[in-house]
Amino acid sequence: MIVVLLGPPGSGKGTQAKRLSAERGWPQLSTGDMLRAAITRGSELGRRAKGFMDQGQLVPDELVIDLITERMKQPDCGRGFFLDGFPRNLAQAEALTKRFEQSGQEIGRAVLFEIADEELIGRLTGRRSCEKCGTPFHLASKPPRRPGVCDACGGKLVHRDDDREDVIRKRLAVYHAQTAPVAAFYERDGRLARIDALDGPEQVERSLKRALGIS
Ligand code: AMP
Repeated sequence: MIVVLLGPPGSGKGTQAKRLSAERGWPQLSTGDMLRAAITRGSELGRRAKGFMDQGQLVPDELVIDLITERMKQPDCGRGFFLDGFPRNLAQAEALTKRFEQSGQEIGRAVLFEIADEELIGRLTGRRSCEKCGTPFHLASKPPRRPGVCDACGGKLVHRDDDREDVIRKRLAVYHAQTAPVAAFYERDGRLARIDALDGPEQVERSLKRALGIS
């Protein structure tokens, strides 16, 4: 199944995509992760994307649409995948629909993670993730056993440059202005499900599975 995960930064989309991806074998396609990897590699794409990301702004559509289109062609996407962080505005949603019309694919469900902005500020400022395997942690709610070290692989835990309060507030403003309308886009064609993202990860996973009709 092709699943679009929608929701503000910090709402838990990536965490849930990782959990279900491992269980179902549907890869997590995160444009944010792909862009950060491009920056780390020092590629031309990374160089062009970095300034926008540091400001909490969206990277230009043509860059991310090309990136995700290439990724979706990989053989591991054949049985389905999670789109995490894409589409991020109406132009991207329309480009995706067009691409799927050409390829005969279809979005099974779009799931909106609903949560208040003030909760997100606390979640994101305390968020840390492993630079090697991506496992997420939180200084208050899910601290690592050893400070700064990943429990899963021993990698170094990093604080994303854009998880600082001033940039978070900009990212939330961009979300409300540009990404929230994508939910209405999928609601119009009957594909949207909404889940409460304030609950803990186990409960959110149950809600997500119910929304996807899987157990
Ligand atoms: P994320 O990891 O999904 O929170 O994304 C981090 C940053 O990457 C965003 O604030 C944007 O600057 C950029 N980004 C990720 N996905 C997209 C997208 N689909 N369109 C434009 N910019 C994106």
